[in-house]
Amino acid sequence: MDTIKYTLNESQMPTAWYNIQADLPAPMPAVLNPGTRALITGADLEPLFPEELIKQEVSIERWIEIPDEVRAIYRQWRPTPLYRARRLEKALDTPAKIYYKYEGTSPAGSHKPNTAIPQAYYNKIAGTKRLITETGAGQWGSSLAVAGAFFGLEVVVYMVKVSYHQKPYRRAFMESYGASVIASPSNETESGRKILKENPDSTGSLGIAISEAVEVAVQDDQTKYALGSVLNHVLLHQTVIGIEALAQFEQAGDYPDIIVGCTGGGSNFAGIAFPFMGKKLRGEGADIKFVATEPVACPTLTQGKYAYDFGDTAHLTPLVKMHTLGSSFIPQGIHAGGLRYHGMAPLLSHVVDLGLIEPKAYGQLDCFAAGLTFARAEGILPAPEANHAVKGAIDEALRCKEEGTSKTILFNLCGHGHFDMQAYMDYQAGLLRDTEYSNQEIAMALAGLPVVSEV
Ligand SMILES: *Cc1c(COP(=O)(O)O)cnc(C)c1O
Repeated sequence: MDTIKYTLNESQMPTAWYNIQADLPAPMPAVLNPGTRALITGADLEPLFPEELIKQEVSIERWIEIPDEVRAIYRQWRPTPLYRARRLEKALDTPAKIYYKYEGTSPAGSHKPNTAIPQAYYNKIAGTKRLITETGAGQWGSSLAVAGAFFGLEVVVYMVKVSYHQKPYRRAFMESYGASVIASPSNETESGRKILKENPDSTGSLGIAISEAVEVAVQDDQTKYALGSVLNHVLLHQTVIGIEALAQFEQAGDYPDIIVGCTGGGSNFAGIAFPFMGKKLRGEGADIKFVATEPVACPTLTQGKYAYDFGDTAHLTPLVKMHTLGSSFIPQGIHAGGLRYHGMAPLLSHVVDLGLIEPKAYGQLDCFAAGLTFARAEGILPAPEANHAVKGAIDEALRCKEEGTSKTILFNLCGHGHFDMQAYMDYQAGLLRDTEYSNQEIAMALAGLPVVSEV
């Protein structure tokens, strides 16, 4: 019988995360203090993060051991399955082989607990009492709420206002684990009040919510900040996905020619891609084409500038070099809330700049159509964000059909869409539009980029 599921047992779960910085041909650009614009120091970051995470943030060691306490929780849903999408292949009538790694089996329904668990763990052992964060669609807030419950940490989530109202079930999910959820922009912070004064109807953005969370975190010793994407240590934690996939491909006796993932802040893409890319960089693995997919409504990699910028709207975060649409860019309210971020992980941006990744932008209508094709063939309803990866993979498979070649395609199905039914209802009712950004809006946001002399 044709295998459709490649599973590993608990003892085959990775024991270390993979740090691609050890294998890159050029080091990442420096991170700068937002005030002085000098090189950032560990002391600059201490109000925000516990020591172990700061160490991981700047580490260039290839392998970083996963603590037993983290592995003990990972084991609840890891290793995650690798599926061969045989019914989708048939539906597309393609000679390509399509595989997907499914991260929707975690308690929060996405890849985000892969980093929420270690972040909560390192905070717990450092004596942190309370974690503050932001969330867009609610996936990250949900993941940190679950992690906080496991480790007995209080969790406060600033949720982008448009999602707060669009996704009441996500909010209820976070609150069920004991987290407090505040709609952002709020009146509780200086950053929030400033935005509301300028625009009382602001629907919020990740950039604004990050400002609020960071502002609160730095004011209290026992409170730290947590970020669900973008940072080096987050991308590091997500590499369990690709490390497992490597072992599963060995089981399958196959190897990908193409790897596709969607990019919001870059973490799930890095998670599946970096372990394979590392093998390629070390000359141990075959060549692979890496495709990063994003929405045309927030085209960070395809239309953004690779430049120094702030991670948030109020300019409280360090200055990092990344692909950015400008920290004042507010993307339209597309349903793939997790992909509505003005910037990109500096590490992923660096890898794109090195020419190792092909970015691609898709409209949301094409992505929902791809998601339904996938759901009807494979039985899993993807998150709207994940639909961008599905669309990318289907495109590659259809190209194989046209060219009569049989490539092996792997994509990351980073989450299920069970909390996104409103999005699917709107799509099926014909209410969604492809909202392209306006050139003028991007030009205005980019004009506000900080002037930085590179060190
Ligand atoms: C958060 C999220 C994303 C975007 O974040 P990345 O860091 O780019 O992975 C994509 N998909 C899902 C399901 C998410 O929850």
